[in-house]
Amino acid sequence: MKTTYITTTIPYVNAAPHIGFALELVQADALARYARQLGHRVRFQTGTDENAFKNVISARERGVPTEQFVATNTAAFRQLATALLSSHDDFVRTTEPRHRQTVHRLWNRLAPGDLYEASYQGLYCNGCEDFLLEKDLVDGRCPDHGTVPEPVAERNHFFRLSRYQDRLEQLIASDAIRVIPQTRKNEVLRFVQGGLQDISVSRSAARSGGWGVPVPGDPDKVIYVWIDALVNYLSGPGNGGDLGNVPFWEPETRKVHVIGKNVWKFHAVYWPALLLSAGLPVPDEIVVHGFLTVNGRKISKTKVEGAPEVKSPTEYIVQYGADAVRYYLLRAIPPFRDSDFSEQGLASVYTADLANGLGNLCTRLTTLCARANVGLPAADFGSSPLRTRIEEAFDDFRLDLILDLLANETARLNREIAERKPWEAFRDRQEGTIQTDLGTWANSLRGLLHWLAPVLPHATECALACLDSKPIQKCPPLFPRL
Ligand SMILES: [Zn+2]
Repeated sequence: MKTTYITTTIPYVNAAPHIGFALELVQADALARYARQLGHRVRFQTGTDENAFKNVISARERGVPTEQFVATNTAAFRQLATALLSSHDDFVRTTEPRHRQTVHRLWNRLAPGDLYEASYQGLYCNGCEDFLLEKDLVDGRCPDHGTVPEPVAERNHFFRLSRYQDRLEQLIASDAIRVIPQTRKNEVLRFVQGGLQDISVSRSAARSGGWGVPVPGDPDKVIYVWIDALVNYLSGPGNGGDLGNVPFWEPETRKVHVIGKNVWKFHAVYWPALLLSAGLPVPDEIVVHGFLTVNGRKISKTKVEGAPEVKSPTEYIVQYGADAVRYYLLRAIPPFRDSDFSEQGLASVYTADLANGLGNLCTRLTTLCARANVGLPAADFGSSPLRTRIEEAFDDFRLDLILDLLANETARLNREIAERKPWEAFRDRQEGTIQTDLGTWANSLRGLLHWLAPVLPHATECALACLDSKPIQKCPPLFPRL
């Protein structure tokens, strides 16, 4: 049996979640659900990065204790995951004891000589939680945050990233760590080939407001939040125990990180290097999605620049239903490129594909089957041309191709029924002549719904229950017209 471990990144929780996080969660959830549908043993994990210094800054601005602030916002992320019907097996908060223990275990396991102390002087951006190089600044400011980074001088712990340059280049070039899409793989390779410098992996505990995971044996320092955050992929399945035998972090498991395009340096460079140093398996696949934009501009958690029209994801779910929001994010947003989010786009996909397409097909066909007393034999989804094509698309994480395929199948069925006009048989009291056709169509619809279930869990459950009744029951409208 194939074993698959799929993760989202863990967002920092300095504000309530926006639609961009919904995209990543829905992508990863659909992949996890497809893997289960294909018979894999699956673990799917999400969570929140609570140790980020950004959380401390935002809590201070609001005059709320940091613990309370992160707990409130984490609850909002959890609620969004539930509202989006996420099927995660675990939700890791990085303030949990099991996580802190795992971070310490990894730190203590790094190869001798890979950690060393040195003085460091640099320009630190609080927004990035990272030192920036002079050449990366635009007019002396952080290009992402528009703020002037502070000069910081401190003694820090360093990780000997430079030692792993050749190994990383070879792992990525050979697809042993497969970075998807190819354009991102090229970007990672260029970065690695450009030369890797050792990285500072601690921060002053005082400057971090005492927030974070302390460096073992050096309580004046906390571990750099990115190093800490990446370890969540181990602390969930490993539950704080020994890192030598973490369930799902095994060579034979397909380990997949679904990430945003702004964090590939951490996932495709720092993380594998740390794992190599600790003698642990590296991830197999890193799937990089683009950003959601509004009128071409990035949606950010704290401010939606020039885009007051973007509502919170929960409002879209209330208005259109979780299934429709999931479907829109996977069908209309290309999986690997930046793409505009618009409510108009959501509404038009809802009407075309869901209300007029699938919803209409389900209602019309089950109504006819119920009238003609049609029942289906037991389902068999084990081997079909549809399954083979879905398996191929899944292997390349092309949820968009899967949905193209299923939308075409929906259209084909709707067309066939329209051409054959089975209602005329009822009018002429000739039901007997269309029983076979109805059974064939109903069976095709059942196959279609089975493979749409990872994207539309609610609607397909309802429709499949009607189709599996004997005789078939009339299905209520799945996607009422707007
Ligand atoms: Zn910055």
